[in-house]
Amino acid sequence: MRALVIEDTATNLAVYCHLLERIGIEPIQARDGPAGIACFQEMRPDLILLDVVLPGIDGFEVARRIRAMEKPGEWTPIIFLTSLAKDEDLERGIEAGGDDYLFKPVSEVVLSAKVRAMQRIVQMRQSLLVLTRKLDEANRELTRLSAVDGLTGIANRRQFDEALLREWRRCQRGGTPLALLMCDVDSFKQYNDNYGHQAGDECLKAVAGLLQGQLRRPADIVARYGGEEFAAILPDTGLEGALLVAEAMRSAVRGHAMTHENSAAGVVTVSIGVAVTQPQQAEDLPRLIGAADWALYEAKRLGRNRVQVGDPSAVRERSKA
Ligand code: GH3
Ligand code: MG
Ligand code: MG
Ligand code: MG
Repeated sequence: MRALVIEDTATNLAVYCHLLERIGIEPIQARDGPAGIACFQEMRPDLILLDVVLPGIDGFEVARRIRAMEKPGEWTPIIFLTSLAKDEDLERGIEAGGDDYLFKPVSEVVLSAKVRAMQRIVQMRQSLLVLTRKLDEANRELTRLSAVDGLTGIANRRQFDEALLREWRRCQRGGTPLALLMCDVDSFKQYNDNYGHQAGDECLKAVAGLLQGQLRRPADIVARYGGEEFAAILPDTGLEGALLVAEAMRSAVRGHAMTHENSAAGVVTVSIGVAVTQPQQAEDLPRLIGAADWALYEAKRLGRNRVQVGDPSAVRERSKA
């Protein structure tokens, strides 16, 4: 442990340094305020003993400047050494950033006790800082986990719902189109039946990675919508762009050639429903989802392993009819 002693009277300085050495603390000496501040900046001592009456800037000002130099979370105990014994002086010292007072002449017993008390506070403070850091990390991890699907590692349904509403509003404000892709693994029940649920899980992980790999912009997001269904949100994307991404996804899964004897293609494939709209009012959002859903159903009906487009305004008409 190192203590910085800022004291202008040579004999006092020698006495304090001697006392500190006797209780196992390494003293750093400074004869005036500016020298003390420079020592603090350079050596970051564990404790500061600070004389109040100093030539030039006094101890109170030195304390203020040192406090201003500390980084967020940093705290060095400052103990004033003073022959000023008035209550107001003590109050000024605490206000300037001091933590305690020692009255001159300083006894070894009192100095040693105060130093030990300060050490205890420093240690408690450090364990609190470590704990706070761990809590922050745990909180960040929890936030991340609450948004991620446990099996596939991509966004989960919760993150999807939030993102869809957020991007809907953003595209509404910006006057740009929003595309939604609904993707479902073909004949997946049969895949589970043939190869077992564990193989099914591995297949879902692979599909998730392949779908994710086809996204082109940072704002694009693909999520596990539920079971063997995935959904992708493509903001600022019209039908042409949405079809390119959907086709890339379909083709990537087909091209990965995961054997699936009981499917039409002999390998794992996906069907994708695409819907695009220019978001207006929030009440229209279910129509976008309904159109993508309907298109997915169509893709299944027409033979699977394909991309189909749905029309959100047709959903409006149907729901009104
Ligand atoms: P279709 O081509 O019409 O989509 O047929 P399908 O068999 O894929 O459709 P269906 O909805 O009947 O079956 C989906 C299957 O997905 C049923 C369920 O056991 C399986 N499944 C859903 N979630 C999981 C999962 O997390 N792991 C595994 N292994 N299977 C899952
Ligand atoms: Mg002095
Ligand atoms: Mg399904
Ligand atoms: Mg399916």
